[in-house]
Amino acid sequence: MAYVCPRCGGPVARDVSAGASILFGLVGALVSAAFGSLKCAQCGEIGHSEFPPEVRSRMTRNSILMGVGGVVLFVVAVSFLAQGS
Ligand SMILES: [Zn+2]
Repeated sequence: MAYVCPRCGGPVARDVSAGASILFGLVGALVSAAFGSLKCAQCGEIGHSEFPPEVRSRMTRNSILMGVGGVVLFVVAVSFLAQGS
């Protein structure tokens, strides 16, 4: 999911933290992808309030979906481990 920079019109990417991914694996990667800050290659960090409302609502929906996906993965992994013992 790519967003367009409200300042220069360039591509904006999530600043996904490598540290969180290493610490918490896939769940950490999902959470940081869902809630990480957005960065434009030209303008640097872009606040959520700078994006137009329809883009913000799309971001919120994506974040919730990814958050829910992370929780579901975690629950599936835990129940899988519990059954294996
Ligand atoms: Zn920009």
